[in-house]
Amino acid sequence: MVDKPGKAVVLLSGGLDSATVLAMARKDHFQCIALSFDYGQRHRIELTAAKRVADAGGAIEHRILTLPIGELGGSALTDATIDVPDASESEGIPVTYVPARNTIFLSMALGLAEVTGCRNIYIGANAVDYSGYPDCRPEFIAAFEKLANLATREGVEGDGFRIRAPLIDMSKAEIIRTGIDLGVDYNLTISCYNPSTEGLACGICDSCRLRANGFQVANVPDPTSYQARD
Ligand code: ZN
Repeated sequence: MVDKPGKAVVLLSGGLDSATVLAMARKDHFQCIALSFDYGQRHRIELTAAKRVADAGGAIEHRILTLPIGELGGSALTDATIDVPDASESEGIPVTYVPARNTIFLSMALGLAEVTGCRNIYIGANAVDYSGYPDCRPEFIAAFEKLANLATREGVEGDGFRIRAPLIDMSKAEIIRTGIDLGVDYNLTISCYNPSTEGLACGICDSCRLRANGFQVANVPDPTSYQARD
């Protein structure tokens, strides 16, 4: 007799990576509660994408919580006075890093997991193609899992939590191939840091470059809608 996997919280941004993670969690037979955040991101159109992805990906529920991370400032993704750089300008931890974002997101996911009886939390963190974000490293995921099991009633009195980051060692091309095999429609997703109000990708930011390169290496037609450029 195999234990039923039960329910999982899946952090869902509306981008390529988290759409793939939702499909992987479903393949693991979890009933998925998708969790997205309105945190003042300039690419807020991604919340529309997140809703589409949650519906298409078979989530049993999609929650969007409001978090005032943008009020902290300090990131090109939440502060309109800081330009989103072209990929070529990036060196070290880029200005698109959002202070402590994954710690804050996972903390909210942990609270939701404890309340809803989920023992598993999925996050699309990726250390291979990542842009130098410290909270996308395996060490961070392992440390957060330890914290989750120290800091909660479920961790102390119950069976504890697993933080699952199945993309952590995968290249963008591997992620795309995995998603295609699982039937993910990447046309529904938005990865761009600086999309138009209609959701068209800029084609030049770090995230657009990584995504476009991933489709190329995976030998899969890129379904992304790009803004017209001069
Ligand atoms: Zn872009």
